[in-house]
Amino acid sequence: MSTATTPAAEHDAPSETSAPLPQSRRLATEIPGPRAQELQERQRAVVPAGVSSIMPTYAVRAEGGIVEDVDGNRLIDFGSGIAVTSVGASAERVVSGVQRQVEQFTHTCFMVTPYEGYLQVAEKLAELSPVPGETRTALFNSGAEAVENAVKVARAHTGKQAVAAFDHAYHGRTTLTMALTAKNRPYKHSFGPFAPEVYRVSGSYPLHDQLDGAAAAARAIDQLQTQVGAENLAAVIMEPIQGEGGFIEPAPGFLPAIVDWCRQNGVLFIADEIQTGFARTGQWFASEHEGIQPDLITTAKGIAGGLPLSAVTGRAEVMDSAHAGGLGGTYGGNPVACAAAVGAIETIEREGLLHRAQEIEERAVAHLRAAAQHDARIAEVRGRGAMLAVELVDPATGAPDAALTSRAAAAARAAGVITLTCGTHGNVIRLLPPLSIGDELLDEGLQIITDALAAA
Ligand SMILES: *Cc1c(COP(=O)(O)O)cnc(C)c1O
Repeated sequence: MSTATTPAAEHDAPSETSAPLPQSRRLATEIPGPRAQELQERQRAVVPAGVSSIMPTYAVRAEGGIVEDVDGNRLIDFGSGIAVTSVGASAERVVSGVQRQVEQFTHTCFMVTPYEGYLQVAEKLAELSPVPGETRTALFNSGAEAVENAVKVARAHTGKQAVAAFDHAYHGRTTLTMALTAKNRPYKHSFGPFAPEVYRVSGSYPLHDQLDGAAAAARAIDQLQTQVGAENLAAVIMEPIQGEGGFIEPAPGFLPAIVDWCRQNGVLFIADEIQTGFARTGQWFASEHEGIQPDLITTAKGIAGGLPLSAVTGRAEVMDSAHAGGLGGTYGGNPVACAAAVGAIETIEREGLLHRAQEIEERAVAHLRAAAQHDARIAEVRGRGAMLAVELVDPATGAPDAALTSRAAAAARAAGVITLTCGTHGNVIRLLPPLSIGDELLDEGLQIITDALAAA
């Protein structure tokens, strides 16, 4: 920790780390500035091209809703590291929990010498998750790993092998989860062969399919029955709001109908809440908005304030189907990550962040819908809580406009707002601010994005 007491230089240098990071945007240089350009050169020499970054700069500090870069630019964070730092960057309880744990021990391996932090996280998930009845939770490191393990458990429990996922699904980048993921580029292209016994069926995308929930579910169930067969199907997996696929909310009634069909046919329903979970949508889990009770839920991203942690929470009798020693991993449920999760959960509870997510939704949707009124390129403003999206089309043809989307996002980034896109057709701007963001930063970021769109 720096002991310097001099005030932060006002230009071209990161602020002093001993003082709080001002919660205001600042452009000290163009982005990338000179230091970022040097780092880009070093990156090209040692990091493969396949690993690419959205913001053309490098972080040195992040706090609350601001990320500071190497050139002293302060960026408004509308990405939260892809829906991870929902409690705000460097949230106090996360930082202090991590510091305390690091001083005690960093690792013993839960499979060797277990520790209480893992149990605290599992107990919290038992309390908060909408899985019915008694639950069990196993912890892992990444979202993809949680999805893999949910599928393993579902197969062990049902004695069946097939797994069905939906159009526009995103479940990760490992062999099995690439197979579950719908979109070819950039996630799957040239990386096959993919895991077998994965089937894809139609979902619900009201803007494009114009089907109500019941009709879309009937179409999906017909595909499940005729193309897979319930007798072969271990599980159906779906994100309650599809994330990478475009922040697609299925029509009301779609998810309950799918879950009912699963229950009646001995098929497990896995809710992949890795992006939608953990307060992001204004409830602990997005499944709650739909009134569904999944057999298994995967969580990651927002669960641990930025530390790598993921979980599979499921009905006790389902989870206990996997034999002793069948689940685990060297780092799964690492004690430092568990301490961070406990701090993040406490922050969400004590700071009322579920409610804050709902306020962000109201404020942001009002701003974006006002912009949409006089911009026919905005086909839809949608989402829940602080998981919001703007879908952009060519108004003449209704075709997805990926070029416009990337121009608008690039302009917003150049103006100092971390702006992400998504969508199977790359034509969705997505907003994932930390739930702790203040109104001023939120409004400024929104204005920059709608200005960037107007000018694009
Ligand atoms: C990000 C994400 C994953 C993969 O998580 P990783 O930690 O990147 O492996 C899986 N499912 C959903 C819905 C996600 O958003």
